[in-house]
Amino acid sequence: VLSTMQDVPLTVTRILVHGTRVHGRSQITTWTGEAEPQRRSFAEAGTRAVRLANALRDDLGVREDDRVATLMWNNAEHVEAYLAVPSMGAVLHTLNLRLPAEQLTWIVDHAADRVIIVNGSLIPLLAPLLPHLRTVEHVVVSGPGDRAPLDGCSARVHEYEELIADKPATYDWPELDERRAAALCYTSGTTGDPKGVVYSHRSIYLHSMQVNMAQSMGLTDRDTSLVVVPQFHVNAWGLPHATFMTGVNMLMPDRFLQPAPLAEMIERERPTHAAAVPTIWQGLLGELTARPRDVSSLTQVTIGGSACPPALMQAFDRLGMRVCHAWGMTETSPLGTVARPPAYASGPDEEFAYRLTQGRFPAGVEARLTGPGGERLPWDGESAGELEVRGPWIAGAYYNGPDAEPLRPADKFSEDGWLKTGDVGTISPDGFLTLTDRAKDVIKSGGEWISSVDLENALMSHPDVAEAAVVAVPDDKWGERPLATVVLKEGSTADFESLRAFLAEEGKIAKWQLPERWTIVTAVPKTSVGKFDKKVLRRRYAAGELD
Ligand code: ADP
Repeated sequence: VLSTMQDVPLTVTRILVHGTRVHGRSQITTWTGEAEPQRRSFAEAGTRAVRLANALRDDLGVREDDRVATLMWNNAEHVEAYLAVPSMGAVLHTLNLRLPAEQLTWIVDHAADRVIIVNGSLIPLLAPLLPHLRTVEHVVVSGPGDRAPLDGCSARVHEYEELIADKPATYDWPELDERRAAALCYTSGTTGDPKGVVYSHRSIYLHSMQVNMAQSMGLTDRDTSLVVVPQFHVNAWGLPHATFMTGVNMLMPDRFLQPAPLAEMIERERPTHAAAVPTIWQGLLGELTARPRDVSSLTQVTIGGSACPPALMQAFDRLGMRVCHAWGMTETSPLGTVARPPAYASGPDEEFAYRLTQGRFPAGVEARLTGPGGERLPWDGESAGELEVRGPWIAGAYYNGPDAEPLRPADKFSEDGWLKTGDVGTISPDGFLTLTDRAKDVIKSGGEWISSVDLENALMSHPDVAEAAVVAVPDDKWGERPLATVVLKEGSTADFESLRAFLAEEGKIAKWQLPERWTIVTAVPKTSVGKFDKKVLRRRYAAGELD
C-alpha cells in the first residue's frame, strides 16, 4: 500500500529558499582582519545566492550537472556558492586549498570543473595551476587580493561582485530529483589517493536535519557557530547547510585561522559553539593559556576528525567550554557518531567516559563490526573489529566521471554495499563507538596490536607535552614497534626517560607497548585538514634513523 503523503523532494533549494525568508534576520559574520568584520544577513546572502545562480547560468553558461569549484576560505560568499550551485542543478566542488599543486590539478581535472570561484587571497595558489587545468573556462574572483597573476590566463576572469550586481533576485528553480548530485568533495588522502564523494540533495537535507538535532549539535537561532573546520573539509561538517536551515548565526574566520585571531574573534563576536579538529584546539589552548581572554560565550565545542585527547577535553572543560566529541569521514557527510552521554550515566566520571568515546550512532547510521575473518562481532564494548556503516548520507561508491560507472573498490565497500571505514574499534550495547585506531595506523608488534591513539593520548596528558604522534617503524624482531614523536611545551626539560616512566606509571600503558624509539621535534607534520600526518612520519623514520 502506498502512503498518502506528498512526494516533495528534499533539496538544497528548499534550504536556500527557507533560510532566506524565514531566517532572514540571522547573520553570517566574516572576519576581515580589520576593525569591523563583514556582516551579512541570511536575507542578503540568500538573495545574493540567487543572483549568483543567474550569473552562472546567463553569463558563464553553467548547465545542470556542470561542476563549479570553489577555492575559498570560510566566508559569506562561500556560503552563497554552497546554496546557489546545487539549487540550479549544478554540482558544487569544494577544493582543498592545502593540497599540493599536483593533487589539486589532478582533482580539478578528474572532476572536470568548468568554473572556479576563488578568493583573491588565493590567486597566488591558483594562477600557476591554471595553464594545467584543461577543463576550467571561467575564474570568478571574490574578496581582496592582487589580480595581476591572472593576467593573460586562458580562462575568462570575472569579478564576483560585478558578476552578481545587476542580476535578478529571482530564479525559476528546476524541479530536481533529490537523488541528483549536489556537491562533490574529495577525501583528503591521509591514507591513499583522493577519492571523490558525491553528496545528493537528499543526503545533504537529511544530514542537515541530523546535525541540528538536540542529540547532535542541537543549535538554534539563539546560537552563533564559529565554523573553523574548513568548508572544503567535508562541507565544514555540514554546518553551512544545517545552520542556514535553522537560522543559526555563522561566524566565519576566512583566512584568519591562527590561534591569536581565533581567540580575538571569540572574545569580540561571542559565539556559543565552535567546530574544529583537535590540532586547532591544541593551538587555541596554548594561546588562551599564554594570553587569557574572555571566552565565556563559547559553551559548546565540537571536536572530531581525529581522536580528542582526554587531556584536551579536560582543559577545555576547565575553561567552561564543554567538548562534544564526534566521529565521521568524508564518505559519511560526515556525521557518523556524536558523544553525548546518555541520561542514565551516573555522575561526572561515567559521563566523562561516555564523552571520550567517539559517540553514539543516530538512527540514520547503521553500524556493524567485522572481524579479521569477515565474521560479525557483537556490540559488547569489547570485541574489536573494522567498523562498517550504512545509511542515507553514507557513500555507496566513489565518483568516476560523469559517464563512467561509480567505483566500488572491495577494500572500501562490502559485497552487500556497506562502507568499510578503515577504523577499528568496539561498540557498546547502547550504541557508543570507541575507536582504537585506524587499521593503517595500528602498530603490529609480534602478533599483538598496539593502539597509536592510546599512546598519543597518554603522552598528551603529560604536562610538558604539547603534541605527540606515534607511528609504527619496522623492527627486525617484532615486525613493527612504536616510535613516539613528541613536541614539548616551551621551556620544558622532559626527556625520553621521564616520558617513558610517565607512561609506565599506574599501568597507563602496558610495559610491552612502551616505545623504545623516541624523537623530539618542533612540530608534528600535519595533513591538509590539520591531522597528524602519519604517512610522512612513517616515511621519515622508516629506515629506523632518528633526527
Ligand atoms: P582523511 O581520511 O583524509 O583524514 P577524513 O576527514 O574523511 O579524511 O577522515 C576520516 C577519518 O578520520 C576517519 O575514518 C577516522 O579515522 C578519523 N576520525 C574522524 N573523527 C575521529 C574521531 N573523533 N576519533 C578518531 N578518529 C577520527
